[in-house]
Amino acid sequence: MNDKPQQFASDNYSGICPEALDYTVKANHHHEFAYGADHWTEKATNLLRELFETDCDVYFVFNGTAANSLALSSLCQSYHSIICHEVAHVETDECGAPEFFSNGSKILLGSGENGKLNPQIIEELVLKRTDIHYPKPKVVSVTQATEVGTVYQKEELLKIREVCEKHSLKVHMDGARLANALAWLKIKPKEITWQCGIDVLCFGGTKNGLAVGETVIFFDRKLAEDFGYRCKQAGQLASKMRFLAAPWVGLLNDKVWLKNAAHANACAEKLEHQLANLPNIKIMFPRQANSVFVQMPMPVIDRLRANGWHFYTFIAVGGVRLMCSWDTTEESIEQFVADIKAAL
Ligand SMILES: *Cc1c(COP(=O)(O)O)cnc(C)c1O
Repeated sequence: MNDKPQQFASDNYSGICPEALDYTVKANHHHEFAYGADHWTEKATNLLRELFETDCDVYFVFNGTAANSLALSSLCQSYHSIICHEVAHVETDECGAPEFFSNGSKILLGSGENGKLNPQIIEELVLKRTDIHYPKPKVVSVTQATEVGTVYQKEELLKIREVCEKHSLKVHMDGARLANALAWLKIKPKEITWQCGIDVLCFGGTKNGLAVGETVIFFDRKLAEDFGYRCKQAGQLASKMRFLAAPWVGLLNDKVWLKNAAHANACAEKLEHQLANLPNIKIMFPRQANSVFVQMPMPVIDRLRANGWHFYTFIAVGGVRLMCSWDTTEESIEQFVADIKAAL
């Protein structure tokens, strides 16, 4: 793409981690049953059940937009509404897929500091209208880690759960970066998911080192009824599913997923430390997962871009999002920081 081996634009600029690649090759032997009846899918599913320490239902789909929108549409009817944060991926980056796949469920936007939904605001949204003319709130969607690189603590999710229980709302978690959140929290996966009332989780693998593939995990298995049909109709049932599932075995064995995430987080921490004291650079959010959001003068942004650096500025208005991934190197960080210093 250019002369730089690595970029800070997104964690999905990275390639496939060696373990996932290894298992892709391992799965490439003999013939196998199709459509998820293969033993790799069974193995990956069982490893996920072990990871979450519960007997959940697991589905493999191609990407996060499909995972989120199909999961959400399984939680509500077309006349319902979904509450999420105003910067949530399901609102800002899925081209209306959750509304489309749910046949019109409305997304209601909440707010809260640092990209996290505030439970009081959820309640206000629920109580704002309770008449027949307004789509009935049915689901709350939280993103872990959030779109601005912060992480919900257990207590924060438990407060959200309380409001949801009070108003009979289901809870969906967009866990595209759940691995990074867990690497930060250093607690067990169950403690921040089903033990916090999450009914359905979209657990991301792509940003953690897979080529492709996310899982939809139903902790409330009743909600998974007919989900397979939903996936098939949406074009999300992989016929050679073993190639979605086997790389997950590579991630789940020996906690590779956690090592990858912890590495990405540690790189973001290094980057943050090096940027924190520079003049005219302002860190925008508490850095917890694998991203650093900074404000920097426009001429500096232009200069970096002219130097071949890519990054997004649309995700945080007035800021630059810098993402680290499982393979970010010390040299890349040094080179980038040197170029920033030169541009300032
Ligand atoms: C990347 C991402 C997704 C998934 O996006 P796809 O491009 O559809 O795979 C979902 N949620 C969040 C918060 C993300 O950052």
